[in-house]
Amino acid sequence: MIDLRSDTVTQPTPDMRRAMAEAEVGDDVYGEDPTIARLEELGADMMGKEAAVFVPSGTMGNQIAVLAQTTPGDEIILEAEAHVFYYEVGGLARLGGLQTRTVPGEHGRIRPEQVAAAVRDENIHFPRTTLLCLENTHNRAGGTVLTVEQTAALAAVAHEHGLNVHLDGARVFNAAVALGVPVADLAAPCDTVMFCLSKGLSAPVGSLVAGPAATIARVRQFRKLLGGGMRQAGVLAAAGLIALQHMPARLAEDHEHARRLALGLAELPGVQVDLETVQTNIVIFHLSGSVSGPALVSGLREHGVLANATGPKSVRFVTHKDITAADIDTTVQAVAGLLRAVA
Ligand SMILES: *Cc1c(COP(=O)(O)O)cnc(C)c1O
Repeated sequence: MIDLRSDTVTQPTPDMRRAMAEAEVGDDVYGEDPTIARLEELGADMMGKEAAVFVPSGTMGNQIAVLAQTTPGDEIILEAEAHVFYYEVGGLARLGGLQTRTVPGEHGRIRPEQVAAAVRDENIHFPRTTLLCLENTHNRAGGTVLTVEQTAALAAVAHEHGLNVHLDGARVFNAAVALGVPVADLAAPCDTVMFCLSKGLSAPVGSLVAGPAATIARVRQFRKLLGGGMRQAGVLAAAGLIALQHMPARLAEDHEHARRLALGLAELPGVQVDLETVQTNIVIFHLSGSVSGPALVSGLREHGVLANATGPKSVRFVTHKDITAADIDTTVQAVAGLLRAVA
């Protein structure tokens, strides 16, 4: 199978499996797992933050970062299709007791003026606005990046109004590679950042939340509250260390494959791809003919290609380390064949 559903499907490398088998471990709830300690230190360093905490998933990381920086009844500002808002099971309401103020972005990007306009004044009728959530790269917009300057401008407005800023950086290494900047520069304007080891970086499990030491201490306590305190999880952190040390450099290849895929799809009648949005490892394309997204996805499955429909007329492909250039060409041919068959 050519699995383009997500970069979460990546298999751990042989090096990761070896490191997992040999990892030195201890009880991390007691703070005694040396491999987790090394991972958290490296993750904090790479993001230019004081501290970091290892969490089982990006979703938990985002949610507990938000919990640590808000009070129930607060309002938080997010782009309208943000993962934290769209795909996290209503956790902001259920766990955080938060009200959301969503702002429509262009290719996932909101403007500083929109943030300024969304912040509540002081008024007896209003909730307090306490957090701005950004997302880089933006998943539902097709892996689009926020530059350092854009991130800084958004964070500056938020900070002027007394808000904290959380970056959902599940794929922030993809953004850094695409922009050719150190990942710490993308994290610097934000108070906290969550990033995934288990996506393009190919670790089997885990994400990190990085930020100021006092905030991360609170994040760590919320992790325990949600049942995310893990014991000898150094076996997972060992793979995470390899993910951080060795995997970011190869993401450029995933981006080249996504570009190749998008250019191939753009040639096909009945397919629309906005090439401007293909900046990293995600390709979302739209179908203008009679075929629906879900129908195309099930047709592709029969040709050995897995993808996700993101809407009635849209399909998403995500490239990653287990996809070759030949797989890309096979995929374009499969889409072409299916569309020809119904034309
Ligand atoms: C995948 C993803 C997450 C959540 O990560 P999980 O580990 O799947 O919970 C959060 N934000 C974005 C933008 C993502 O793409």
